[in-house]
Amino acid sequence: IGAVSTTAFVGIGSNLGDREAHLQRAIELLSAEDGIEVTRVAEIRETEPVGPVQQGPFLNGAVRVETELAPRELLSRLLDIEGRMGRVRRERFGPRTIDLDLLLYGDQNIDEPGLTVPHPRLHERRFALEPLAELDPGLTIPGSEPVSALLAKLD
Ligand code: ADP
Ligand code: MG
Repeated sequence: IGAVSTTAFVGIGSNLGDREAHLQRAIELLSAEDGIEVTRVAEIRETEPVGPVQQGPFLNGAVRVETELAPRELLSRLLDIEGRMGRVRRERFGPRTIDLDLLLYGDQNIDEPGLTVPHPRLHERRFALEPLAELDPGLTIPGSEPVSALLAKLD
């Protein structure tokens, strides 16, 4: 019985503690999940925090995965890994040991309570778009534009 496999992209960020170790650990835990295979890892980059909260710089990355999991199930695995890594949710957009975001799931557009794909702030986030372009230079955001075009607009 072969389950259908979908290509998805997961964004990873950290701006507390040993940030690089957190990213590596998150990638390990992702790979260890049944139904998730990490097939490509983007270079890690340091980015200044955006948004309303004063906080330290992030390390950001992204991975490409092949998954047999439905989008909801994949998101709940991501949130579970955040929890296992000790992420505590305090203020929204605030500092975090680890942040795992479901950026893209195949060519699907999903808008449900608690799950929006493509990730709602993807279009405006260079730190998410750049790793995506690295993982798949020809990628188009479902319902939107090529990643390269979105990046060009941010210039
Ligand atoms: P952000 O990553 O935008 O800074 P959080 O990590 O605090 O925000 O996520 C808050 C909530 O966003 C999660 O509990 C989750 O239910 C919801 N969410 C909706 N869509 C997504 C998505 N595509 N990826 C990750 N979380 C999402
Ligand atoms: Mg998140």
